[in-house]
Amino acid sequence: PPLDELIASLTVEIPDFPQPGVVFRDLTPVFADGPAFGRMVEGLAAPAEVDPRAAALAAAGGREPAFDVVVGVEARGFLLAAAVALQAGVGVVPVRKAGKLPRERLSAHYALEYGTATLEVHTDSIAPGQRVLLVDDVLATGGTLAASTSLVEGLGGVVVAVSVVVELVGLGGRQRLAPHTVHALWTT
Ligand code: IMP
Repeated sequence: PPLDELIASLTVEIPDFPQPGVVFRDLTPVFADGPAFGRMVEGLAAPAEVDPRAAALAAAGGREPAFDVVVGVEARGFLLAAAVALQAGVGVVPVRKAGKLPRERLSAHYALEYGTATLEVHTDSIAPGQRVLLVDDVLATGGTLAASTSLVEGLGGVVVAVSVVVELVGLGGRQRLAPHTVHALWTT
């Protein structure tokens, strides 16, 4: 089946989790399925879709990746980002929840539905001018990925694309991340 249908068929929807009125998409069965995980990782890394310049380069016989490093957002983003980085032959950098990183770090505070949250990155983990592919599992309101984008850019990195497995439309995430390109494997 096409990748979006495969992801949709393996995703489990849980009503009223983590709170009443919310339908939670549980992607862990997609991660647990070998062929689906492989295709998902390939899709997230796909340089042709991530960066049109890379597609042109590939067509010309070049093989340079379109990004220098993959940044994954805690925690499910870690599972994806590491696999994408390995496939592309680049390194992986974690964006973590507050209080987890031991060295000098940059913090971004952002609003949740109730309250606020903080994400952090080590200040030496991204060099100015480095091209970053930002990866997470689900794009909802975009708050998490917008904060992650601000961290990368705060260190001088260039976000070439944001890749997610699922984009929940109608929550404004894609608009919030503009002008960054959002690459979603399944839109629902
Ligand atoms: P946002 O910040 O509103 O875009 O929410 C995205 C973050 O919340 C991501 O880190 C997701 O892992 C998580 N998230 C939001 N909705 C879901 C869902 O339905 N399933 C799994 N994770 C979700």
